[in-house]
Parts: sequence; structure tokens; C-alpha cells
Amino acid sequence: MSTTVTITGTGTPIPTPDRAGPGVLVTHRSDGRKTDLLFDAGRSTVMRLVGAGSGPGDLNAVFLTHHHSDHLVGLDDVLLTRWVMDREQNLPPLQVVAPDGPCIPFVEGLCQRWADDLEVRSAHSRRHGGPSVQPTAFAYPEVPTEVWRSGDVGVLAGQVRHEPVHPAVGYRIETPDGVVAISGDTLVCDEVAVLAAGADVLVYEAMRFSEIRKAPEHRRFILDYHADTFLIGAQAEEMGVPLLVLTHLIPPPTCDADEQAFADDVRSGGYTGEVVVASDLTSVSLP
Ligand SMILES: [Zn+2]
Ligand SMILES: [Zn+2]
Repeated sequence: MSTTVTITGTGTPIPTPDRAGPGVLVTHRSDGRKTDLLFDAGRSTVMRLVGAGSGPGDLNAVFLTHHHSDHLVGLDDVLLTRWVMDREQNLPPLQVVAPDGPCIPFVEGLCQRWADDLEVRSAHSRRHGGPSVQPTAFAYPEVPTEVWRSGDVGVLAGQVRHEPVHPAVGYRIETPDGVVAISGDTLVCDEVAVLAAGADVLVYEAMRFSEIRKAPEHRRFILDYHADTFLIGAQAEEMGVPLLVLTHLIPPPTCDADEQAFADDVRSGGYTGEVVVASDLTSVSLP
């Protein structure tokens, strides 16, 4: 039995050549059975899934944290590629779990956006019907609440603070191997501490506020709703999280020294556990 956490994308809306858009793949293996759960689907997610030894057809469910394009633009590709590669035509609809709000009509509209292409492809390849998607909405949770379960793998959603974007949630994945928490996009806030209490791995979005404060005025609005590396360090230490994985890195590191600066900030905040500044396909396992 094992649970692994693979970062499918460490990027942001600003494109860089080696960082796909945001996404985290959590894989649980038990008795020869694999459960693949994807959290967000930014640009190039399908390529990273394949790089991780998975693929769109392997996904049991996709979970969305919030309705920001950088977390969603890869979802069309996930759905369409799942269908194109499903030559036996025996895959179930792609289940997409999201807080009730704008993510739901976005997901409902996925197939319609590609209707003309799908019609031509279906007729040409003599297939019946196109891809199907099953949106699953949950009410914005007051406290972390279970929104999905399969056997002994459960997923809870909890509030985070990414205003003015609302609703925005993080996720907590519970398996017999332990607990993984994913912050989604958020300020460092008490809600994350509640969601991630007792987690073995905390995947946290990370922004170096000290750098962004030096950015031109028109760039500084992002200070309103992202997680400061110093505060991450302080919070993670207080929570006693043993392993912290930083992703959604702003500004994007382009060399080892840039990556080290993220880790150094977290240390300056007081964190004494293990910190990983993720690259795409960085993978960690639960103990
Ligand atoms: Zn984002
Ligand atoms: Zn966002």
C-alpha cells in the first residue's frame, strides 16, 4: 500500500518553459488497485500526467479549487484526450468535483465548446457519442467536509482565503497511509491550519512577498491573495507539519539560488521540518 503526491505543475498564469500550470496528482495504491486523483488542471497538465506515469484515462476524479483560468485551462485537454484515447470506449464519465459556483457551468460547458470537432471525429471514427463529464458540486463548506470517497480514500474540502475569488477551497486527502493537504490559492490563514491539521504532507502555494513588494505598482495586487513564504514557515512550524512542498511559485525560480531563496524564507519564518521547493513532477511519498 502506498500514497504518492506528484506536482503536475508548479507554474502560474505567467508562462515559463519548464513549469506547467497548477496541478497535484495524488495516487493511492492498495491490493493492486490504483486511485488517481487530480487537483486542478493548469496548462500542459496532460503532458505532466503522462510524465508521472498516469494519464487522463487513469483519473478517478478531478477536483477544482477555484475558478481562476490558470487552474482550469488544461481541463479541456484532460477530458478530450481521455476520450480520444479511450479506444475500448469503456471509461466512465470524467468526474469533476468543485465548490458550487462558476466552476460548475464551466465544467458543464466543456463538451459543448468542442461540439463541432467531436461530431466530425465521432462520425469519421464511427464512434457513438463524445466524451462525457460528470460535474459534482458541493456547498461551500463551513468546516472541512468530505466531498468524495472511494473505499478507504476520502477527500475533504475546506475554505481558504483567495478573495475576491469566491468560492475558493483547499483539499485534504485521507488514506490509510496518512494525510495530504493541498492549500489551493490562498493567503496564509487559520482556515488552512484547520484543513491541514495533523497532515503528513502540506502542499502550499508560495509567493515571495519580499520580491513582489519591489515589483511595479500594477503587479502588486497579487499580494492580496497569495501565501507569503515567511508566514508559511511560521504556520507550518506551529502546526508541526513534517513535510512542506512549495508550488505555484511566484516569482518563478530560474536557477538553484532562486529555489533556495524560497526555502530560506520558510526557514526564516521558523520552519524546521523538511521543505521541498517543487519542480514539475517532483514526487513525495507518505511515510
Ligand atoms: Zn493560481
Ligand atoms: Zn487563484
